[in-house]
Amino acid sequence: MNVLIIDDSAVVRLMLSRALEPLGAQVTCPASLADARERLGMTGTGAADVDVVLLDQVMPEMDGVSFLRELRAYPHLQELSVIMVTGVQDEAQLEVAFAAGAMDYVTKPCPPATLRARTKSGARLTRALRASRERALELQEVNAQLADLNGQLQALSMTDALTGLANRRAFDLAFDQALAHHARSGLGVALLMIDIDHFKRYNDALGHPAGDACLHQVAMVLRGGVRRSTDLVARYGGEEFAALLSDTDAQGAAVVGERILHRLKHEAFVHPDHPLGRVTVSIGVAALPDAADHGLKDAADQALYRAKAKGRNAAVTWRPVPVGNPA
Ligand code: GH3
Ligand code: MG
Ligand code: MG
Repeated sequence: MNVLIIDDSAVVRLMLSRALEPLGAQVTCPASLADARERLGMTGTGAADVDVVLLDQVMPEMDGVSFLRELRAYPHLQELSVIMVTGVQDEAQLEVAFAAGAMDYVTKPCPPATLRARTKSGARLTRALRASRERALELQEVNAQLADLNGQLQALSMTDALTGLANRRAFDLAFDQALAHHARSGLGVALLMIDIDHFKRYNDALGHPAGDACLHQVAMVLRGGVRRSTDLVARYGGEEFAALLSDTDAQGAAVVGERILHRLKHEAFVHPDHPLGRVTVSIGVAALPDAADHGLKDAADQALYRAKAKGRNAAVTWRPVPVGNPA
């Protein structure tokens, strides 16, 4: 236990130190307030291994309460127990001292056994408060780590492991949000359903691992095919992808579809069992409000079906069938 006695009277300092001797405590009696500040780490170090301070209430240089206020301004001294040493028991003065952060008081002359008991419990309180602050800090750190891990987990639960794109779960959430946004804003929202052509044959010709690598490559092309930060490209399932474009009409979405076909042509990923000799996709495009009666997803699926029927490697935009002219 480290005790600091701050008192302008050498006699009092000696008396207090003597009284504390049986405790076996490390007692320091700085000769001046400047020394006391240094001992308490108030002059720059910001750390002090003092467990309890016995502080004279009346000193010529500066009164004890003012020194106590100065001390309490330091974060590393918040938990330190300070016991006021007073000449007379003056209720009003004590109240001021407690308000300034004193933990206890003793009157001069103090019976040695009382002084020891008060000093011991002061030191115990300091240590308990310090330990609790450390635990609070540890807890804060653990909480920050947990929040970080939670974020990572959240991201993982929304990501397709093979392609790194948004997964079906993320798509479904974004789709619902996009529909709600459209309902509020009236702005267009477009959906592209994108399916790799003859992918079964690709797997059969080159093996499943090569098929997985191809899915990843196509995913990168799709990601590069959209421009806005609000556009979402997701792996919808198997070799089928979806691109959700907010605030976009059918015409704008058709441009994105053509861009994807163009980029894939440029990449020319080899497909040994494809009439064109390279990997292609078919794309169904639909947008709200055009497809409002039909349902955005169903309309995009229907357009995709037409793109396949057209011979694949094509983007088809869903159009409402004119009244009196059934398809
Ligand atoms: P189409 O041009 O009509 O779309 O023909 P397709 O062969 O692409 O379509 P089909 O639905 O007959 O076959 C899809 C294939 O995609 C079959 C399946 O094994 C493959 N596939 C789905 N998911 C994966 C995957 O994660 N990895 C690999 N390597 N293949 C997959
Ligand atoms: Mg396919
Ligand atoms: Mg398919």
